[in-house]
Amino acid sequence: MSAATEIAAMQGGTAAGPAGPRLFAAGAAAGMAAHLAAYGEVPRHGRDWSLAEELEASGLTGRGGAGFGAWRKFAAVDHARRPNRYVPRTGGPVLIANGAEGEPLSFKDASLLHNAPHLVIDGLVAAAAELSAGSVFIYAGAANLAPVAAALAERADARHIALVEAPDTFVAGQASAVVNFLETGRALPRDLAARLAGSGFKGRPTLVHNVETWAHTALVARYGAGWFRTAGTPEDPGTRLVSVTGNVPSEVVLEVPGGAPLDSVLASAGVGSDAVSAVLVGGYHGRWVRPDGVVLSAAAAAGSTPAGGAVRPGAGVLHVLGHGRCGLAATAAMVDYLAGQSARQCGPCMFGLPALADVMGRLAAGTGGPGLVREVERLLALVAGRGACHHPDGTVQLVHSALETFADDVRRHLAGQCQEAAPAGGAVR
Ligand code: SF4
Repeated sequence: MSAATEIAAMQGGTAAGPAGPRLFAAGAAAGMAAHLAAYGEVPRHGRDWSLAEELEASGLTGRGGAGFGAWRKFAAVDHARRPNRYVPRTGGPVLIANGAEGEPLSFKDASLLHNAPHLVIDGLVAAAAELSAGSVFIYAGAANLAPVAAALAERADARHIALVEAPDTFVAGQASAVVNFLETGRALPRDLAARLAGSGFKGRPTLVHNVETWAHTALVARYGAGWFRTAGTPEDPGTRLVSVTGNVPSEVVLEVPGGAPLDSVLASAGVGSDAVSAVLVGGYHGRWVRPDGVVLSAAAAAGSTPAGGAVRPGAGVLHVLGHGRCGLAATAAMVDYLAGQSARQCGPCMFGLPALADVMGRLAAGTGGPGLVREVERLLALVAGRGACHHPDGTVQLVHSALETFADDVRRHLAGQCQEAAPAGGAVR
């Protein structure tokens, strides 16, 4: 154990962690030796120390999209695993690191699993010890499991972790779809995401976190909540990874502090604000914004596109739309893709999203009549809140934000003046 982590262990996790990049401090494709040199070992804490309490004090939120407090799920599983005369428990809680990343514009989880797999494993190992977990899984695409398998082969404390190959679909990363896949081999969402902590995989208390959330958990276990809060803002502490795509010099993953101004994040990706028309924040289930004065914060209010306010980063996706590109055409292509990704279990999702994609395509192509916007709004109202999972609502949020942010373009399209032909359907990159 390094001197720094020895002190951390004695003080309940208060040693100084990396001052620069947190998640990639060990460098590219870090093996165990580089990992330990950068971070030291995960300290074995005493009985008077609680990872759950440290997570609560840290303010860490989930980095997979929803942005819930990480400690809330942790505490719910901790509560549910305790002996209960009404609900017999067998097998202990289940921990899952979700790296499925079905979002077409996201590759930050892939980057994390390739470069810092030991940090993800450390988070799972620390939580498994505190929760007396019975089963631990890492769920990700085949290409991203390979570096994790190599990392597991380097250590003796993680032999209980099983690797599960995730299918390459948009909804395969939803928490309930992950559990469904582990149980049945079908990555279809279920209407029970909120109850996984109480009864998830085979009825056992189940904690599903994004792989980045587990990596931050490992750092909180090492260095404590106080250190975690030395980056970011009081409302959105710590750092997060963002995937930057679109009209950029090169696609890149950045680690940015909570509350970061969007224009400074784009500048770090080599994008000047005068080159940007709009940015899709949060991915295909996110929202379009004009970047001026916008900050990325998990504490942002849901439900509207801010003008110079805070916007939720969701799964950490920033897709840049340069001047001369049509936001309606880009949105229409995304809705077309999302319609094809419906799990076809709920009528409004199965039939409503293709209808929405059709109308958005006509709007983007400038071939519809003046009633198109009303038709879009009718379809949005039809599918909103009508799915077993978040897929329809995420799509509704995307389209609402496009109608707001590209209101001038909507008027031009209705007058048959599109500046860019609508691309064929499919994922935008
Ligand atoms: S809302 Fe759509 S994606 Fe979600 S479960 Fe229903 S059919 Fe599947």
